[in-house]
Amino acid sequence: MSLKLNKNLIERFSRQIILKDIGALGQKKIIKSKVLIIGMGGLGCPVAEFLTRAGVGFLGIVDSDNVDLSNIHRQSLYDSTDINKSKVTAAKKKLNKINSQTKVNCYKKKITKDNFDRIIKKYDYVVDGTDNFKTKFLINDVCLKTKKILITGAISKFDGHIFNFNFKNKSNPCIRCFFQEEMISDDILNCEYEGILGTVAGMIGTILANEVLKEILSIGKNLNGFIFVLDLLNLNFRKVKLNKQKKCLCN
Ligand SMILES: [Zn+2]
Repeated sequence: MSLKLNKNLIERFSRQIILKDIGALGQKKIIKSKVLIIGMGGLGCPVAEFLTRAGVGFLGIVDSDNVDLSNIHRQSLYDSTDINKSKVTAAKKKLNKINSQTKVNCYKKKITKDNFDRIIKKYDYVVDGTDNFKTKFLINDVCLKTKKILITGAISKFDGHIFNFNFKNKSNPCIRCFFQEEMISDDILNCEYEGILGTVAGMIGTILANEVLKEILSIGKNLNGFIFVLDLLNLNFRKVKLNKQKKCLCN
């Protein structure tokens, strides 16, 4: 338990340590935290980057894809020299350059029912930066079962949705309370067909990282029971109540 902040760490994180809500104690909490990021695309890249900069000690990053030329306009950890390389390997290399003290575990695979239980065990917080509902439902269900804190992002065109589910509390809703599986066609969030502006991905991803840090530090207001909906074309930001459905899996 007794983690000491040496001179180098105090200097590195000095601008956030001086925040009243953080301090040395908060910084230690960040360093000890374990976060799993699923999907290292437009959302996962800024989440991983800012959590690494903030000093999160353990990151798991999951993605089965390689970097494609069409990814680079929004996926901020990759550059042109990374094309055709594994996303998780390229991301880890960049993250290690930013802060070598963040331990990064790479999972170059698709999350499935069979492998997810084993991976999730090692982490306290889960970020869903995936782009399809099938995976989003799977992540929701496993996080619900294992009582994790799940921060979910979804982006399309100029819009973003952010959810925060604390499954330690049984009275909180889940993603199935909002999206019914039978109403969803799988490619509804697919950037390939819908299109997405890179800055939208960057902003929503950065908010996801901000929510993770707030959860680690137990500060501020969280989004439990609400959806944060951002229309970045017209600058309409709203918090919408997310009601728990009686017949949902989360009861
Ligand atoms: Zn539910």
